[in-house]
Amino acid sequence: MNENYFDNAASTPVDPIVVQEMLPFLTEAHGNAHSIHSAGMRAMQAVELARERVAALIGAEDPDEVVFTSGATESNNWVLRSYGKIAISPFEHPSVAVTGCCVGAEVLRNQGEAIMPPTSSPDLVSVMWVNNEMGGILDVPACRTWARNVHSDLTQAVGKVPFDLKSICFGSLSAHKFYGPKGVGALYAHGGCNLDPLLAGGGQEHGARAGTLNVPGIVGMGAAAAIARDRQEQDFAHASELRAIVLDELSSVSDWRENRCSKQSPFVLNLSFLGLVGEALVVELDCVGYAVSAASACKSSSHGTSGVLTALGVPADWAKGALRISFGRANTKESARALGAALRESVSSLRAMR
Ligand code: PMP
Repeated sequence: MNENYFDNAASTPVDPIVVQEMLPFLTEAHGNAHSIHSAGMRAMQAVELARERVAALIGAEDPDEVVFTSGATESNNWVLRSYGKIAISPFEHPSVAVTGCCVGAEVLRNQGEAIMPPTSSPDLVSVMWVNNEMGGILDVPACRTWARNVHSDLTQAVGKVPFDLKSICFGSLSAHKFYGPKGVGALYAHGGCNLDPLLAGGGQEHGARAGTLNVPGIVGMGAAAAIARDRQEQDFAHASELRAIVLDELSSVSDWRENRCSKQSPFVLNLSFLGLVGEALVVELDCVGYAVSAASACKSSSHGTSGVLTALGVPADWAKGALRISFGRANTKESARALGAALRESVSSLRAMR
């Protein structure tokens, strides 16, 4: 694994143990999980084990509250397209923000990181647990009184920071954010899923989600969930340590700030460097072997600055210099220190060119 890869909020590497567990289902155990012969039953057993493991990781009481999907984007779309009147937070990932726009959702106002109540009572409110750009932990439980149904995009929280499933009805997750494969995820639905399917087709997932089950992906997600459950505290402590190291390395740099919330995931570090453009720093760091991202990569306003940072009140000339560093298991204390030093160099060389 590459210790200089610091873009783990975009995607994590697949854990080698996960690959091992997936392999048989890509080769000899290729049965369709809905076939009634032995090959089908073997696949279905593996799917049900994965469902139990994912349920255990997120703290769902019943594994049948977990429906497998192609990822958080699908899960988010599914929930938002299932209700009439919707309100969403101003900090959402595009898979909620853009879908919300398509279905005429009210975008809630905010004061700093605090989200204001909706103007009239919606059927569903959607507020992410951890923001993907700056790692801020939002106050989802506070939204419980605003609507009968609360949805939370848990993508950046699962396996990383504690969350309370009791305060939500629906939660979205993606396996590749916790060392599982891409293209597989889940929707948590309290009490079991009674939403109409997003796509018409076969009656898979107890009629909730049509389409042949992605057995290797689901098995990989289950294996990754089991590992994440065991490692959650260790991973949290590791990310906290690496974060402090990078910040320490920047102490001699001028005109930078950390963009953060009062409650913060240690896995994401969002920094702004006055006068610099985030993408330029990403390219500079890439040239010396480090993968990071510009905070604006996923959601940008018309000025090329991050809509999330703007909503949080980060001034435009700071927001355009934002950089997201996100930590993972493969990063080491040495690589974090070296990244901090490389960042220092990149900032001073880019500033010297102005
Ligand atoms: N929500 C959040 C908060 C995310 O960070 C991401 C991935 N960038 C998604 C949703 C979408 O996940 P996927 O692309 O795996 O469907």
